Amino acid sequence: MELENKKIWRGARSKGLVLRLTDSIFPRYCVRCGEEGQLLCDKCNVNWHPGRIPAKCVVCGKESIFGETCARCTEDNTPDGHLTTFAYADPVARALIGNWKYHYDETAWNLLRTRIGVELNQVRQCLDTFGIQSVLAIPLHRRRVCERGFDQSKLCAEFIATTLGKEKADILERVRGTGKQAHRSDKEREEEMKDSPFQILSGMYVPKKILLVDDVWTTGSTARAAIRTLRCAGAEVIWVYTIARG
Ligand SMILES: [Zn+2]
Ligand SMILES: [Zn+2]
Repeated sequence: MELENKKIWRGARSKGLVLRLTDSIFPRYCVRCGEEGQLLCDKCNVNWHPGRIPAKCVVCGKESIFGETCARCTEDNTPDGHLTTFAYADPVARALIGNWKYHYDETAWNLLRTRIGVELNQVRQCLDTFGIQSVLAIPLHRRRVCERGFDQSKLCAEFIATTLGKEKADILERVRGTGKQAHRSDKEREEEMKDSPFQILSGMYVPKKILLVDDVWTTGSTARAAIRTLRCAGAEVIWVYTIARG
């Protein structure tokens, strides 16, 4: 027991040391004011008010109660509705998501998670209203997870499922990788997504009502491909939550 404690202590100490070393080699600058020290300094954290995002149809932008997709915009690859926490135009949210995804900065996820947690009430109300019990991430390709060391959508889905007491359903697999989406044009993305890069893991039960989780909704092409695959496999109600919406 004592040996175990020593190991944990030593681990924590060396992790702290590595973090301090990393900070001194690659000093952090506040994404809001540029001051050296933290990714988001205490003052900017207090003064960051991203504001509530209006709930609206993700296709035409018409406002609705929770963000339902209106009937005339509904197709087999559109979600029943879309929920989000930040506008991607918010410079702090965008910088934090970028630091998390592309610079693997866990501090960024901790900051985002705290804000998402405070704003989850609307997601909870929506899931209760539509009887959704299963939370599912849009997964990265295995190769990308190896490069990155984590799958941001899965972490976010886990967080939402745990916080709201829902079941996490890992039933989707990305069978085909796509290039780094941030560097691609909308047209290139749409072309790539025509043949779905997703499949249902063999032998898995597909829940009828699903909350699909991803990091950012821009064109929605990735989510649409996943939605089509899930609907073909029997899912009836699919809402999408993304951390930010473009
Ligand atoms: Zn600052
Ligand atoms: Zn619409």
